[in-house]
Amino acid sequence: MNLKYESFELKLKEPFTISRSSIDTKKVVYVRIDEGIGEASPSTYYGENEGTVKAALELFRNELGDDPLEIESTLEKINSRIAGNFSAKAGIDLALHDLIGKRLNLPVHKLLGITKKEIETSYTIGLDTIKRMQEKVKEASGFLVYKVKVGVENDLKMVEAVREVTNAKIRLDANCGWDLKEALKKLRVLEKFDIELIEQPIQPGNLEDLRIIRENTDIPVYVDEWLMTSKDIPQYMGKADGINIKLMKCGGIREALKMIHTARACNLKVMLGCMIESSVGISAAAQIAPLVDYVDLDGNLLISNDPYSGPELKNGKWILNDLPGLGLKQVQ
Ligand code: MG
Repeated sequence: MNLKYESFELKLKEPFTISRSSIDTKKVVYVRIDEGIGEASPSTYYGENEGTVKAALELFRNELGDDPLEIESTLEKINSRIAGNFSAKAGIDLALHDLIGKRLNLPVHKLLGITKKEIETSYTIGLDTIKRMQEKVKEASGFLVYKVKVGVENDLKMVEAVREVTNAKIRLDANCGWDLKEALKKLRVLEKFDIELIEQPIQPGNLEDLRIIRENTDIPVYVDEWLMTSKDIPQYMGKADGINIKLMKCGGIREALKMIHTARACNLKVMLGCMIESSVGISAAAQIAPLVDYVDLDGNLLISNDPYSGPELKNGKWILNDLPGLGLKQVQ
């Protein structure tokens, strides 16, 4: 099979700020395997960028074989070529799924036996001034759940202000921004704002602190940062309520499915999230989203120059289409 790729700069509608960083553009790499298309959205936080993605893709070029249906062995070969580099691997995995669907004339969700087509997603409110965060919620009205970024000094006021302007569900993501003491103190206050869950309150790695936080708050605690693939999951059994899977962290749809099963076996709930990525990555994740408990697929809604369109957004829900493969159309 023939591999091609090109980079593309996504432009954010407004700067996207979390507790450790702020960006206004994001370089992604589109991966084409014959008529299949995938996307790699690398994060420097996980040691990847446009250059590492392209270098990894070159390593993968001779491992693709002739038959997209041999996806399991192809992905095994790719994994054995290089560790990590999960967004580059996701680019290959997504392109192969798109290609298989197109060759068989079936949408990927149908290939996987998934029949539910409506997926409620959260919409992310990045860190900003309190006034601007309230405006962002009002401008994005119609969502059933908002994910509010926290993990900074005045975040309690931010959440209070967001709660003032919406009755929708609110989930929080501290992106490692608190320490144990701060997390315990703030979560106690946050409970009164009817919070659905909190993602990554503290730095990953300290399982005992995580367990203490979970025991001292009614808000369910989810882990995200550095939880990459299925083998990272069992350690969180009894220490967290759930995990956040992202295609760009785990290497694609194939591994994400393994993670969903692993998490269930470990009595952990499952959230499916995303990076800043275009409709290629979001539509790929949406194909398996009916299998999880919480969906946070909004990366494509935050950009102004998406070259593709995928599922339709209606009343805060993605509606999967019946187009073959990942269900994508190129925007003219
Ligand atoms: Mg997160």
